[in-house]
Amino acid sequence: MSVTPVASSDTTEAAEAAVEAITGAAGQEVTFSLELSQDQKDIRDWVHGFAADVIRPAAHEWDEREETPWPIIQEAAKIGLYGFEGLAQFFADPTGLSLPIVNEELFWGDAGIGMSIMGTALAVAAIFGQGSGEQIGEWIPRCFGTQDDIKVAAFCASEPNAGSDVSGVRTVAKFDEAANEWVINGQKAWATNGGISDVHVVIASVDRELGSKGHAAFVVPMSEAKGISQGSKVSKHGLRASHTADVFLDDCRVPAGYVLGGKEKLDERIARVREGKKNKSQAAMQTFEASRPTVGSQALGVARAAYEYALEYAKEREQFGRKIIENQAIAFTLARMKMEIDAARLLVWRASWMGRNQVPFENAEGSMSKLKSGEVAVWVTERAIQILGGNGYTREFPVERWHRDAKIYDIFEGTAEIQQLVIARAISGMYIK
Ligand SMILES: Cc1cc2nc3c(=O)[nH]c(=O)nc-3n(C[C@H](O)[C@H](O)[C@H](O)COP(=O)(O)OP(=O)(O)OC[C@H]3O[C@@H](n4cnc5c(N)ncnc54)[C@H](O)[C@@H]3O)c2cc1C
Repeated sequence: MSVTPVASSDTTEAAEAAVEAITGAAGQEVTFSLELSQDQKDIRDWVHGFAADVIRPAAHEWDEREETPWPIIQEAAKIGLYGFEGLAQFFADPTGLSLPIVNEELFWGDAGIGMSIMGTALAVAAIFGQGSGEQIGEWIPRCFGTQDDIKVAAFCASEPNAGSDVSGVRTVAKFDEAANEWVINGQKAWATNGGISDVHVVIASVDRELGSKGHAAFVVPMSEAKGISQGSKVSKHGLRASHTADVFLDDCRVPAGYVLGGKEKLDERIARVREGKKNKSQAAMQTFEASRPTVGSQALGVARAAYEYALEYAKEREQFGRKIIENQAIAFTLARMKMEIDAARLLVWRASWMGRNQVPFENAEGSMSKLKSGEVAVWVTERAIQILGGNGYTREFPVERWHRDAKIYDIFEGTAEIQQLVIARAISGMYIK
């Protein structure tokens, strides 16, 4: 673009036209704003209050215990923060921002407890995205249980030999015509809430020759199905209040109707794939892209917790007769921490808005938001330890826990490398390996 110079006699006219264009626009409807609505601010403050009063004070204890914090999930259910109605309300926001705002505040309180509250949403999203109306009505309430009998749910895709490469899933589901049942066999790895849930959504192959196109999602309720059991519970680096375990499926039988979307639709889809017709893998890609900013917002919560703590510490701690923040090395680090968190949040909000409004993710904007937020969380929490010095390295202070928690955001829901792969393929249109 170039700006054409104007002769001096034209200058006044040009300036007047510019002023008119600016003032004339004053009455027009503004279609872009980063100002949160009053409803969004209210939700943010409400969740923040719960995170500050209930989650944060309990975080150290549950991290040490390495157990699911059932009493806190119960508290969250009592106020409507845990349950389908709450989740549906956050999701309904047409801007797409309520869900990441809620996640950021919850995980600001604590990531392990946050994941115990939000982990169920993975299974819910699969049922909501792939289930029939009837299945949604039946299974989603069962994921949460009731206030007197709280349940969690698990989404089981990963396997010992199928993490980044989901096409390597070896769990198989065979249909037993005589019994009108599916028989599932396999081993699932690292399932959040695996084995302690009633509802398990299990990804299994109905035709291994078709790779990931032969996959289907099955609801396997622990209370009904025989042959599903918890393997070893995983002892973790971070996110320790969240339960992670292997799940075994050993001749596990579920009724024909427990495949999400229904057996008829599955048979039609598999027949189409076998004929070489186009499937909906692009739609599945869009779904992943849409869920990634939510995960990114969890990382942001962890990063913000560490930044805020380090800022206050640096303003109080004195060495060499002055506050440590009075040294540029510390103050500039804090300035960069704040800038990186805000930059990551803008990517998260952009992708959340795109996902909610079905704007195509042409440049893998969902992956960008998750990749950036994960990297920021790891970097910010590491810098926070540095700012706290020896104290930062001890379990007497929370920043070391936040650093341990942050690392998972480089790994699950697609590793940092896989996010880069997705972005690289999207921007190039080429099959980058
Ligand atoms: C705490 C926790 C909770 C989890 N919760 C769940 C859950 O609820 N449900 C579920 O299904 N799974 C869950 N997972 C599994 C998680 O999604 C996987 O760990 C993740 O997808 C990575 O798979 P992997 O561990 O097998 O790593 P691998 O795929 O073996 O990757 C190892 C390394 O190789 C890199 N790599 C792999 N392929 C490529 C490539 N093509 N190009 C460049 N680099 C590559 C990876 O980026 C990584 O650095 C959870 C994991 C953890 C740790």
